[in-house]
Amino acid sequence: MQFETIIGLEVHAQLLTESKMFCRCSAGYASADPNTHVCPVCLGLPGALPVINHGAVQATIMTGLALTCSIPEYSKFDRKNYIYPDLMKGYQISQYDLPLCGGGVLPLVIDGKRKDIGITRVHLEEDTARLVHRTANGETYSLVDVNRSGVPLMEIVSEPDMRSPEEARAYLMALRQILRYIGVSTANMEEGAFRCDANVSQRTLDGSVIGPKVEIKNMNSFRSVERALAFEVERQRKALRDGEALVQETRGWVEDQGITVSQRTKEFAHDYRYFPEPDLPPLVLDRAEVDGIQSRMAELPTARRDRFIEQYGLNEREAELLTVEREVADFFEVTVDGDADRAREASNWITGEIFALMRDSGLELDDVNISPEQIRELIELVGEDTINNRTAKEVLVAVHETGKSPREIVEERGLAQVSDEAQLLAVVRSVVDEHPDAVTDYQNGKKAAIGFLIGQVMKQMRGTANPGVARSLLEQTLAERVTS
Ligand SMILES: [Zn+2]
Repeated sequence: MQFETIIGLEVHAQLLTESKMFCRCSAGYASADPNTHVCPVCLGLPGALPVINHGAVQATIMTGLALTCSIPEYSKFDRKNYIYPDLMKGYQISQYDLPLCGGGVLPLVIDGKRKDIGITRVHLEEDTARLVHRTANGETYSLVDVNRSGVPLMEIVSEPDMRSPEEARAYLMALRQILRYIGVSTANMEEGAFRCDANVSQRTLDGSVIGPKVEIKNMNSFRSVERALAFEVERQRKALRDGEALVQETRGWVEDQGITVSQRTKEFAHDYRYFPEPDLPPLVLDRAEVDGIQSRMAELPTARRDRFIEQYGLNEREAELLTVEREVADFFEVTVDGDADRAREASNWITGEIFALMRDSGLELDDVNISPEQIRELIELVGEDTINNRTAKEVLVAVHETGKSPREIVEERGLAQVSDEAQLLAVVRSVVDEHPDAVTDYQNGKKAAIGFLIGQVMKQMRGTANPGVARSLLEQTLAERVTS
């Protein structure tokens, strides 16, 4: 039997608002002491009334617009009822039948080909409190930290359009990139600001066998999503081939064993008894507000990549590398500073030396001690022949280590390139005198020997010799030696 994999993803992303979704408590819970960002609303005390955080509504609409969703004029919040220790009120305020954003698209590029993944909806809800599980004296117990309760959470639901674990991973990376570009979420998966549940099933290409849909939870990194899905695809295909019964269920990914295990079957599925939230007014969205949000939205990664190719004459690969993270794209454009002639050099420095520095040191761009202005200065120093490319790389490392400007470092360390012919000629002559074998090789037609001699000149000059001038002086001197 030939199977096709069907994958749909649900992503929960925490929004970067100052305050929580329905109260004025700070939403920044990560570094706070437990249970310090709490009030009667997010503690779920009887009689406390929620108030809508419009910043969260706008961030959700901006996300919808970035995914080319339609934004209806009328939306509302609903109660999703269930009981769990981390759910303070016994219900979660969410959105059921009238979400803030309807059908959209996220375009992916897979193996050089464009593939559009449908977005079913984007809606807004509140996060739950956090349970911390402990063991002491052989007993296990759980603690509740209410700081996270009521933090704005956006749910982005895709259509079941993905056909492989690799496509699912590409979708998540593209989605994270967009959320970061428009600045609505850190979308950091390891910190729990970007969580993914996956629905996966199998069907035969002719449609004669359709396997049940299985939901997978507990995946904490892009890699674990890909691994969990790959495991599940194989498990389901084997069961279908062997004629074993597969059930519609929820399974959890067990990272250290690399397997999924059954958590809940359909018989125990929740009935959430949704109904409209009586404590909140419906959301009526006027066109002007939606247009205003659209006009404030940052340029999206694909648009920026295309513009980089067009405006700066970069190739596709360079443009791709420079636009993966918004910070890098911004850094590049400040370096170029409107002068397209500088784009090539700027791209080379950033994707070459800066990326290498980040890789070697494990630092993010923000933590690298080099500014776009300093890269520009370095490009100028090379352009005006003050230093050569090799010295420039040394200077860059020194800028990162000392925080001094490239010009200061060149002056302090005497790294300025020497183009003065009289000074270079003296060195050239001494090198020629010291290496008669190389001179003989050169005169016997081994022209490559001049490379060795230039290297010797560079060595004596601590890399500061102008290589072009050094070469022509060497050629001249060697020619004279032949005739003399
Ligand atoms: Zn509160």
